[in-house]
Amino acid sequence: MRIGVPKEIKNHEYRVGLTPDSVHEMVAHGHEVVVETNAGAGIGASDADYEAAGAKILPGARDVFDAAQMIVKVKEPQAAERAMLRPDHILFTYLHLAPDAAQTADLVKSGATCIAYETVVDARGGLPLLVPMSQVAGRLSVTAGATALEKAHGGSGILIGGVPGVEPAKVVVIGGGVVGSHAITMAIGLGADVRVLDRNTAVLGNLAQIFGPALTTIYSTKAALEAQVLAADLVIGAVLVAGAAAPKLVSADLVRRMKPGSVLVDVAIDQGGCFETSKATTHSDPTYIVDEVVHYCVANMPGAVPKTSTHALNNATLPFALALADKGAKKALLDDPHFLPGLNVYQGQVTCEAVASALGYDY
Ligand code: NAD
Repeated sequence: MRIGVPKEIKNHEYRVGLTPDSVHEMVAHGHEVVVETNAGAGIGASDADYEAAGAKILPGARDVFDAAQMIVKVKEPQAAERAMLRPDHILFTYLHLAPDAAQTADLVKSGATCIAYETVVDARGGLPLLVPMSQVAGRLSVTAGATALEKAHGGSGILIGGVPGVEPAKVVVIGGGVVGSHAITMAIGLGADVRVLDRNTAVLGNLAQIFGPALTTIYSTKAALEAQVLAADLVIGAVLVAGAAAPKLVSADLVRRMKPGSVLVDVAIDQGGCFETSKATTHSDPTYIVDEVVHYCVANMPGAVPKTSTHALNNATLPFALALADKGAKKALLDDPHFLPGLNVYQGQVTCEAVASALGYDY
Protein backbone atom coordinates (compact mmCIF):
# COMPACT_ATOMS: atom_id res chain seq x y z
CA MET A 1 0.00 0.00 0.00
CA ARG A 2 1.11 3.61 -0.49
CA ILE A 3 0.93 5.53 2.80
CA GLY A 4 0.94 9.32 2.98
CA VAL A 5 2.08 11.53 5.86
CA PRO A 6 1.12 15.20 5.41
CA LYS A 7 2.54 17.98 7.58
CA GLU A 8 0.05 18.87 10.34
CA ILE A 9 -1.58 22.25 9.67
CA LYS A 10 -3.69 22.80 12.80
CA ASN A 11 -2.49 25.83 14.76
CA HIS A 12 0.47 25.00 17.06
CA GLU A 13 0.45 21.29 16.17
CA TYR A 14 4.04 20.06 15.92
CA ARG A 15 3.49 16.29 16.06
CA VAL A 16 3.57 14.09 12.94
CA GLY A 17 1.64 10.95 11.98
CA LEU A 18 4.63 8.63 11.44
CA THR A 19 8.18 8.91 12.80
CA PRO A 20 11.11 7.88 10.57
CA ASP A 21 11.30 4.60 12.56
CA SER A 22 7.64 3.88 11.81
CA VAL A 23 8.27 4.65 8.13
CA HIS A 24 11.16 2.20 8.19
CA GLU A 25 8.82 -0.46 9.62
CA MET A 26 6.22 0.23 6.91
CA VAL A 27 8.86 -0.04 4.20
CA ALA A 28 10.14 -3.30 5.72
CA HIS A 29 6.59 -4.65 5.32
CA GLY A 30 6.79 -3.87 1.60
CA HIS A 31 4.82 -0.61 1.61
CA GLU A 32 5.67 2.74 0.03
CA VAL A 33 5.57 5.89 2.15
CA VAL A 34 5.30 9.46 0.89
CA VAL A 35 5.97 12.30 3.33
CA GLU A 36 5.31 16.01 2.86
CA THR A 37 8.49 18.08 3.04
CA ASN A 38 9.20 19.33 6.58
CA ALA A 39 6.44 17.14 8.08
CA GLY A 40 8.81 16.05 10.87
CA ALA A 41 10.38 19.45 11.56
CA GLY A 42 8.46 19.85 14.85
CA ILE A 43 10.03 16.68 16.29
CA GLY A 44 13.49 17.27 14.86
CA ALA A 45 13.12 14.71 12.03
CA SER A 46 14.45 16.07 8.74
CA ASP A 47 13.46 15.13 5.19
CA ALA A 48 16.83 13.35 5.01
CA ASP A 49 15.87 11.24 8.06
CA TYR A 50 12.67 10.20 6.33
CA GLU A 51 14.51 9.46 3.08
CA ALA A 52 17.03 7.35 4.99
CA ALA A 53 14.07 5.40 6.41
CA GLY A 54 12.86 4.73 2.86
CA ALA A 55 10.24 7.46 2.35
CA LYS A 56 9.81 9.64 -0.71
CA ILE A 57 9.52 13.36 0.07
CA LEU A 58 6.81 15.29 -1.80
CA PRO A 59 6.53 19.09 -1.95
CA GLY A 60 2.93 19.65 -0.83
CA ALA A 61 -0.06 18.17 0.98
CA ARG A 62 -1.94 17.88 -2.33
CA ASP A 63 0.86 15.66 -3.73
CA VAL A 64 0.69 13.43 -0.64
CA PHE A 65 -3.11 13.08 -0.72
CA ASP A 66 -3.03 12.42 -4.49
CA ALA A 67 -0.32 9.75 -4.22
CA ALA A 68 -1.46 7.90 -1.08
CA GLN A 69 -4.10 5.26 -0.43
CA MET A 70 -3.89 5.70 3.35
CA ILE A 71 -3.30 9.00 5.16
CA VAL A 72 -1.80 8.81 8.66
CA LYS A 73 -2.07 12.01 10.71
CA VAL A 74 -2.33 13.23 14.29
CA LYS A 75 -5.05 15.89 14.39
CA GLU A 76 -8.48 15.81 12.78
CA PRO A 77 -8.29 16.87 9.10
CA GLN A 78 -8.79 20.58 8.62
CA ALA A 79 -11.23 21.83 5.95
CA ALA A 80 -8.49 22.12 3.30
CA GLU A 81 -7.40 18.54 4.00
CA ARG A 82 -10.96 17.20 3.99
CA ALA A 83 -11.42 18.64 0.51
CA MET A 84 -8.59 16.36 -0.72
CA LEU A 85 -10.10 13.10 0.59
CA ARG A 86 -11.33 10.50 -1.94
CA PRO A 87 -13.66 7.49 -1.56
CA ASP A 88 -10.69 5.11 -1.86
CA HIS A 89 -8.73 6.82 0.94
CA ILE A 90 -8.23 5.34 4.41
CA LEU A 91 -7.81 8.12 7.00
CA PHE A 92 -6.21 7.10 10.32
CA THR A 93 -5.93 9.89 12.92
CA TYR A 94 -7.62 11.51 15.95
CA LEU A 95 -11.07 12.70 14.78
CA HIS A 96 -13.20 13.67 17.84
CA LEU A 97 -16.30 13.87 15.63
CA ALA A 98 -19.14 14.05 18.19
CA PRO A 99 -18.84 17.80 18.83
CA ASP A 100 -17.80 18.60 15.23
CA ALA A 101 -20.74 18.60 12.79
CA ALA A 102 -18.84 20.32 9.96
CA GLN A 103 -16.01 17.80 9.96
CA THR A 104 -18.41 14.86 10.17
CA ALA A 105 -20.44 16.16 7.21
CA ASP A 106 -17.27 16.53 5.12
CA LEU A 107 -16.01 13.05 5.99
CA VAL A 108 -19.41 11.55 5.12
CA LYS A 109 -19.38 13.43 1.81
CA SER A 110 -15.82 12.28 1.02
CA GLY A 111 -16.79 8.59 0.95
CA ALA A 112 -13.46 7.78 2.64
CA THR A 113 -12.88 5.14 5.33
CA CYS A 114 -12.19 7.21 8.46
CA ILE A 115 -10.77 5.50 11.54
CA ALA A 116 -10.38 7.47 14.78
CA TYR A 117 -7.57 6.76 17.23
CA GLU A 118 -9.75 7.73 20.18
CA THR A 119 -12.44 5.08 19.70
CA VAL A 120 -10.17 2.03 19.31
CA VAL A 121 -10.58 -0.12 22.44
CA ASP A 122 -8.59 -2.84 24.21
CA ALA A 123 -9.59 -6.10 25.89
CA ARG A 124 -10.36 -4.31 29.18
CA GLY A 125 -12.51 -1.64 27.54
CA GLY A 126 -9.68 0.93 27.77
CA LEU A 127 -8.72 3.35 24.99
CA PRO A 128 -5.17 2.32 24.05
CA LEU A 129 -4.58 5.12 21.55
CA LEU A 130 -5.52 7.78 24.12
CA VAL A 131 -3.34 6.27 26.86
CA PRO A 132 0.00 7.65 25.59
CA MET A 133 -1.33 11.22 25.61
CA SER A 134 -2.70 10.77 29.14
CA GLN A 135 0.71 9.46 30.22
CA VAL A 136 2.39 12.55 28.77
CA ALA A 137 -0.19 14.94 30.30
CA GLY A 138 0.09 13.25 33.70
CA ARG A 139 3.86 13.56 33.82
CA LEU A 140 3.76 17.14 32.50
CA SER A 141 1.16 18.18 35.07
CA VAL A 142 3.77 17.92 37.83
CA THR A 143 6.49 19.90 36.07
CA ALA A 144 3.91 22.52 35.01
CA GLY A 145 2.66 22.66 38.60
CA ALA A 146 6.20 22.90 39.99
CA THR A 147 6.93 25.86 37.71
CA ALA A 148 3.67 27.57 38.70
CA LEU A 149 4.63 27.17 42.39
CA GLU A 150 7.62 29.46 41.78
CA LYS A 151 7.16 32.97 43.17
CA ALA A 152 7.70 34.67 39.80
CA HIS A 153 4.72 32.72 38.41
CA GLY A 154 2.38 33.67 41.25
CA GLY A 155 3.05 30.58 43.35
CA SER A 156 3.86 30.43 47.03
CA GLY A 157 7.56 29.89 46.32
CA ILE A 158 7.88 26.30 47.52
CA LEU A 159 10.29 23.88 45.81
CA ILE A 160 8.30 20.76 45.00
CA GLY A 161 10.76 18.29 46.54
CA GLY A 162 12.11 20.58 49.28
CA VAL A 163 15.73 20.09 50.35
CA PRO A 164 17.12 18.15 53.30
CA GLY A 165 15.77 19.78 56.46
CA VAL A 166 12.94 21.60 54.64
CA GLU A 167 9.47 20.14 53.97
CA PRO A 168 8.53 19.30 50.37
CA ALA A 169 5.31 20.48 48.71
CA LYS A 170 2.04 18.64 49.42
CA VAL A 171 0.73 17.33 46.10
CA VAL A 172 -2.87 16.09 45.87
CA VAL A 173 -3.90 14.12 42.79
CA ILE A 174 -7.65 13.76 42.22
CA GLY A 175 -8.32 10.71 40.03
CA GLY A 176 -5.81 7.84 40.01
CA GLY A 177 -6.22 6.61 36.41
CA VAL A 178 -3.67 6.97 33.63
CA VAL A 179 -3.07 10.72 34.09
CA GLY A 180 -3.14 10.41 37.87
CA SER A 181 -0.75 7.46 38.13
CA HIS A 182 1.79 9.18 35.87
CA ALA A 183 1.48 12.40 37.85
CA ILE A 184 2.11 10.37 41.02
CA THR A 185 5.22 8.74 39.50
CA MET A 186 6.64 12.14 38.68
CA ALA A 187 5.69 13.83 41.97
CA ILE A 188 7.15 11.02 44.08
CA GLY A 189 10.24 11.03 41.87
CA LEU A 190 10.72 14.73 42.60
CA GLY A 191 10.42 14.11 46.34
CA ALA A 192 6.97 15.63 46.98
CA ASP A 193 4.55 14.54 49.73
CA VAL A 194 1.91 12.88 47.55
CA ARG A 195 -1.72 11.85 48.14
CA VAL A 196 -4.26 10.51 45.68
CA LEU A 197 -8.05 10.55 45.91
CA ASP A 198 -10.26 8.28 43.83
CA ARG A 199 -13.76 6.91 44.29
CA ASN A 200 -12.78 3.51 42.92
CA THR A 201 -11.28 1.36 45.69
CA ALA A 202 -9.72 -1.05 43.17
CA VAL A 203 -7.80 1.88 41.66
CA LEU A 204 -6.59 2.94 45.12
CA GLY A 205 -5.59 -0.64 45.98
CA ASN A 206 -3.59 -0.96 42.80
CA LEU A 207 -1.79 2.36 43.36
CA ALA A 208 -0.99 1.39 46.97
CA GLN A 209 0.60 -1.82 45.71
CA ILE A 210 2.67 0.02 43.11
CA PHE A 211 3.86 2.95 45.20
CA GLY A 212 3.79 1.52 48.74
CA PRO A 213 4.19 3.92 51.64
CA ALA A 214 5.52 6.70 49.38
CA LEU A 215 1.88 7.38 48.45
CA THR A 216 -1.14 8.07 50.69
CA THR A 217 -4.35 6.77 49.11
CA ILE A 218 -7.65 8.34 50.18
CA TYR A 219 -11.21 7.39 49.25
CA SER A 220 -12.76 10.45 47.62
CA THR A 221 -15.66 11.78 49.69
CA LYS A 222 -16.64 15.45 49.67
CA ALA A 223 -15.19 15.97 53.16
CA ALA A 224 -11.92 14.14 52.44
CA LEU A 225 -11.45 16.03 49.21
CA GLU A 226 -12.05 19.39 50.90
CA ALA A 227 -9.56 18.66 53.70
CA GLN A 228 -6.87 17.58 51.23
CA VAL A 229 -7.38 20.54 48.89
CA LEU A 230 -7.15 23.02 51.78
CA ALA A 231 -3.83 21.50 52.92
CA ALA A 232 -2.33 21.21 49.41
CA ASP A 233 0.35 23.24 47.68
CA LEU A 234 -0.43 21.64 44.30
CA VAL A 235 -3.70 19.96 43.25
CA ILE A 236 -3.83 17.97 40.02
CA GLY A 237 -7.31 17.32 38.58
CA ALA A 238 -7.23 14.02 36.67
CA VAL A 239 -10.75 12.61 36.85
CA LEU A 240 -12.70 11.12 33.97
CA VAL A 241 -16.28 9.95 33.80
CA ALA A 242 -16.36 8.24 30.39
CA GLY A 243 -18.50 10.06 27.87
CA ALA A 244 -19.51 12.84 30.30
CA ALA A 245 -18.33 16.32 31.24
CA ALA A 246 -15.88 16.29 34.16
CA PRO A 247 -17.61 16.64 37.56
CA LYS A 248 -16.86 19.96 39.30
CA LEU A 249 -15.16 18.56 42.38
CA VAL A 250 -13.60 21.78 43.68
CA SER A 251 -16.03 24.70 44.05
CA ALA A 252 -15.17 28.38 43.66
CA ASP A 253 -15.78 28.73 47.41
CA LEU A 254 -13.22 26.02 48.18
CA VAL A 255 -10.68 27.70 45.86
CA ARG A 256 -11.22 30.95 47.81
CA ARG A 257 -10.27 29.12 51.04
CA MET A 258 -7.09 27.47 49.63
CA LYS A 259 -3.62 28.57 50.74
CA PRO A 260 -2.47 31.73 48.89
CA GLY A 261 0.02 30.81 46.17
CA SER A 262 -1.18 27.22 45.86
CA VAL A 263 -1.60 25.79 42.37
CA LEU A 264 -4.39 23.97 40.54
CA VAL A 265 -3.50 21.99 37.38
CA ASP A 266 -6.73 20.94 35.66
CA VAL A 267 -5.77 18.16 33.26
CA ALA A 268 -9.47 17.30 32.84
CA ILE A 269 -10.01 20.70 31.21
CA ASP A 270 -10.49 18.96 27.84
CA GLN A 271 -13.71 17.53 29.35
CA GLY A 272 -14.74 20.92 30.79
CA GLY A 273 -12.49 20.83 33.86
CA CYS A 274 -13.00 19.53 37.41
CA PHE A 275 -12.48 22.86 39.23
CA GLU A 276 -15.33 25.39 39.10
CA THR A 277 -12.89 28.24 38.43
CA SER A 278 -11.15 26.52 35.46
CA LYS A 279 -11.18 27.93 31.95
CA ALA A 280 -9.08 26.55 29.09
CA THR A 281 -5.68 28.17 28.49
CA THR A 282 -2.96 27.76 25.86
CA HIS A 283 0.78 27.01 25.95
CA SER A 284 1.56 30.63 25.09
CA ASP A 285 -0.36 31.88 28.18
CA PRO A 286 -0.88 28.79 30.34
CA THR A 287 -1.80 30.21 33.76
CA TYR A 288 -4.08 32.76 35.42
CA ILE A 289 -4.82 33.57 39.06
CA VAL A 290 -8.15 33.43 40.91
CA ASP A 291 -8.25 34.35 44.63
CA GLU A 292 -4.43 34.05 44.84
CA VAL A 293 -4.56 30.47 43.49
CA VAL A 294 -2.63 29.84 40.26
CA HIS A 295 -4.61 27.89 37.63
CA TYR A 296 -2.93 25.92 34.80
CA CYS A 297 -5.60 24.66 32.37
CA VAL A 298 -3.97 23.85 29.02
CA ALA A 299 -6.31 21.68 26.97
CA ASN A 300 -3.63 20.06 24.76
CA MET A 301 -0.78 19.52 27.19
CA PRO A 302 1.06 16.89 25.04
CA GLY A 303 1.53 19.60 22.38
CA ALA A 304 4.25 21.11 24.59
CA VAL A 305 6.45 18.06 24.05
CA PRO A 306 5.76 16.98 20.45
CA LYS A 307 8.88 14.84 20.27
CA THR A 308 7.97 12.60 23.20
CA SER A 309 4.27 12.72 22.29
CA THR A 310 4.84 11.67 18.68
CA HIS A 311 7.05 8.74 19.65
CA ALA A 312 4.60 7.63 22.38
CA LEU A 313 1.67 7.92 19.98
CA ASN A 314 3.50 5.97 17.24
CA ASN A 315 4.32 3.16 19.70
CA ALA A 316 0.57 2.72 20.17
CA THR A 317 -0.69 3.41 16.62
CA LEU A 318 1.96 1.62 14.54
CA PRO A 319 0.61 -1.95 14.97
CA PHE A 320 -2.82 -0.75 13.83
CA ALA A 321 -1.41 1.28 10.91
CA LEU A 322 0.60 -1.78 9.83
CA ALA A 323 -2.51 -3.98 10.00
CA LEU A 324 -4.37 -1.51 7.77
CA ALA A 325 -1.49 -1.41 5.28
CA ASP A 326 -0.86 -5.17 5.29
CA LYS A 327 -4.47 -6.39 5.12
CA GLY A 328 -6.47 -3.43 3.80
CA ALA A 329 -9.03 -1.62 5.96
CA LYS A 330 -11.88 -4.12 5.66
CA LYS A 331 -9.92 -7.21 6.73
CA ALA A 332 -7.85 -5.38 9.37
CA LEU A 333 -10.99 -4.04 11.05
CA LEU A 334 -13.06 -7.23 10.79
CA ASP A 335 -10.16 -9.37 12.07
CA ASP A 336 -9.83 -7.35 15.29
CA PRO A 337 -12.93 -6.64 17.43
CA HIS A 338 -10.97 -3.97 19.34
CA PHE A 339 -9.95 -2.14 16.18
CA LEU A 340 -13.44 -2.15 14.61
CA PRO A 341 -14.89 0.46 17.06
CA GLY A 342 -12.29 2.83 15.61
CA LEU A 343 -14.27 3.01 12.38
CA ASN A 344 -16.23 6.27 12.55
CA VAL A 345 -17.20 6.94 8.92
CA TYR A 346 -17.33 4.38 6.09
CA GLN A 347 -18.43 4.95 2.51
CA GLY A 348 -20.63 7.92 3.38
CA GLN A 349 -22.16 6.39 6.55
CA VAL A 350 -21.48 7.30 10.17
CA THR A 351 -20.50 3.98 11.78
CA CYS A 352 -19.85 5.13 15.36
CA GLU A 353 -23.01 5.07 17.49
CA ALA A 354 -21.93 7.92 19.80
CA VAL A 355 -21.17 10.20 16.84
CA ALA A 356 -24.41 9.27 15.03
CA SER A 357 -26.55 9.96 18.09
CA ALA A 358 -24.71 13.21 18.94
CA LEU A 359 -25.18 14.59 15.44
CA GLY A 360 -28.45 12.99 14.32
CA TYR A 361 -27.17 10.55 11.69
CA ASP A 362 -28.75 7.15 10.98
CA TYR A 363 -26.76 4.35 12.56
P1 NAD B 1 -8.83 7.42 33.50
O1 NAD B 1 -10.19 6.89 33.17
O2 NAD B 1 -7.65 6.54 33.32
O3 NAD B 1 -8.83 7.89 35.04
C1 NAD B 1 -9.84 8.69 35.60
C2 NAD B 1 -9.96 8.36 37.09
O4 NAD B 1 -10.87 9.31 37.67
C3 NAD B 1 -10.52 6.96 37.38
O5 NAD B 1 -9.63 6.24 38.22
C4 NAD B 1 -11.85 7.26 38.11
O6 NAD B 1 -12.16 6.30 39.09
C5 NAD B 1 -11.56 8.62 38.70
N1 NAD B 1 -12.75 9.39 39.06
C6 NAD B 1 -13.88 9.59 38.35
N2 NAD B 1 -14.74 10.36 39.04
C7 NAD B 1 -14.14 10.66 40.21
C8 NAD B 1 -14.52 11.43 41.34
N3 NAD B 1 -15.71 12.03 41.40
N4 NAD B 1 -13.63 11.54 42.37
C9 NAD B 1 -12.43 10.93 42.33
N5 NAD B 1 -12.03 10.19 41.27
C10 NAD B 1 -12.86 10.06 40.23
O7 NAD B 1 -8.68 8.78 32.67
P2 NAD B 1 -7.30 9.49 32.25
O8 NAD B 1 -6.82 8.91 30.98
O9 NAD B 1 -6.41 9.50 33.42
O10 NAD B 1 -7.81 10.96 31.90
C11 NAD B 1 -8.13 11.90 32.93
C12 NAD B 1 -8.56 13.21 32.28
O11 NAD B 1 -7.42 13.83 31.65
C13 NAD B 1 -9.59 13.06 31.15
O12 NAD B 1 -10.53 14.12 31.25
C14 NAD B 1 -8.78 13.21 29.90
O13 NAD B 1 -9.56 13.64 28.80
C15 NAD B 1 -7.82 14.26 30.35
N6 NAD B 1 -6.62 14.47 29.50
C16 NAD B 1 -6.28 15.76 29.27
C17 NAD B 1 -5.16 16.06 28.53
C18 NAD B 1 -4.76 17.51 28.36
O14 NAD B 1 -3.91 17.78 27.53
N7 NAD B 1 -5.34 18.43 29.12
C19 NAD B 1 -4.38 15.04 27.96
C20 NAD B 1 -4.75 13.70 28.21
C21 NAD B 1 -5.89 13.43 29.00
